[in-house]
Amino acid sequence: MFDKVLIANRGEIALRIQRACKELGIATVAVHSTADADAMHVRLADESVCIGPPPASESYLNIPRLLAACEITGADAIHPGYGFLSENARFAEILEEHQITFIGPTSEHIRIMGDKIEAKETAKRLGIPVVPGSDGAVTNEAQAMKIAKQLGFPVLVKAASGGGGRGMKLARTAEELDMAVKTARSEAKAAFGDDSVYLEKYLTKPRHIEVQVFGDGKGEAIHLGERDCSLQRRHQKIWEEAPSPALNSETRAKIGTTVQRAMQKLKYRGAGTVEFLYEDGEFYFIEMNTRLQVEHPVTEMITGLDLVIEQIRIASGAPLTLKQEEVTFQGHAIECRINAENPKNFRPSPGKITYWHPPGGLGVRVDSGAYQGYRIPPNYDSLIGKLIVHGKNRNECLMRLKRCLSEFVIDGIETTTPLFTELVRHPDIANGMYDIHWLEKFLQQP
Ligand code: ADP
Repeated sequence: MFDKVLIANRGEIALRIQRACKELGIATVAVHSTADADAMHVRLADESVCIGPPPASESYLNIPRLLAACEITGADAIHPGYGFLSENARFAEILEEHQITFIGPTSEHIRIMGDKIEAKETAKRLGIPVVPGSDGAVTNEAQAMKIAKQLGFPVLVKAASGGGGRGMKLARTAEELDMAVKTARSEAKAAFGDDSVYLEKYLTKPRHIEVQVFGDGKGEAIHLGERDCSLQRRHQKIWEEAPSPALNSETRAKIGTTVQRAMQKLKYRGAGTVEFLYEDGEFYFIEMNTRLQVEHPVTEMITGLDLVIEQIRIASGAPLTLKQEEVTFQGHAIECRINAENPKNFRPSPGKITYWHPPGGLGVRVDSGAYQGYRIPPNYDSLIGKLIVHGKNRNECLMRLKRCLSEFVIDGIETTTPLFTELVRHPDIANGMYDIHWLEKFLQQP
């Protein structure tokens, strides 16, 4: 096992990882920018190193500074969390070269899955069903038009290096295609420095269903069931649940086994998430995330497994804790992402939290680095915490969530909690009747 782990992240996830390390008896090193000197992950770490000014490029994304922090503190492993360098194959490779363990998959697997075109090809090869689309990148307008007509409009233009919903453009008709390709290309170039794009059939009423997997890197792999993340705004998840209200145990076992076998063939190591769109009883692979996900707690709540501890154990060379037949699912869990944003127009609302009172009680978990008096810096993602509730079944879970939202008090800044109060009362949500477009339509209503 490791003696000391450096956590190359901030906010709630840095704290989450730190908690896992502490329970394993591993010393922790927090890194932070000058904007985060007062952050909870810094306060609670065994050691901390300031790695630069507020811009992420000069701190959390700065590889030489992270290496220096490792050197100074003698950390023998790095956990990258999510975002920042978590899916940077070069970073994983550099750590491999420096004999520092990257708590994650091999740099090779990160690279394959980081290119969405290559990821799709790989998925197909491993027997995973994919969304119909272009075979590889589209290189010119005539070719794009030909493929789009074969697929049938509407089609989605997607960036090969895309992430966070960027570089994705919809073409409803043939007239819109040229423009969609051009905008997707320029957005992708600006955001990722790579303008290759590909086409996919646009699904009109799918759910987003993703399967959590763990591999030991030697050919053994298990799946931990699915999460339904269909409630999205601008292709960004805001509410996630497990199990999905749309699947029965047979469908769950079938897709789970497909993914498990694929990961065994790939000899995948560590935690990963295979994302699908699910429409009319069919699954279509869209991408694989080779890291811990924001929404991992809902899986922890229904399986009882600590996914971060599992990641650390696997990275240290230990075998998987559970065999597939030992994985069991209990009850239902929902996570709401609490963002420091106006709940109507979603404008960021950084600033000082003057009062903070999180809910509690049976089946309630709040993952957050926020506290009373904490000043949220304007430089980063607006996620300030996650409210996770667990219940015997979906109905109990919804009742508990409603109760928790009424208890949660956050003063001084605006947050998205009022939106969840509305959602939890909505009959479509109560009935589990929503697809990936539901929230956008709901938000457009006066
Ligand atoms: P990113 O990596 O940018 O998050 P994804 O490929 O994971 O991109 O897609 C993000 C979201 O975009 C999906 O959850 C879904 O809501 C939507 N989406 C992606 N592909 C399609 C498609 N072919 N049809 C309809 N919606 C899609």
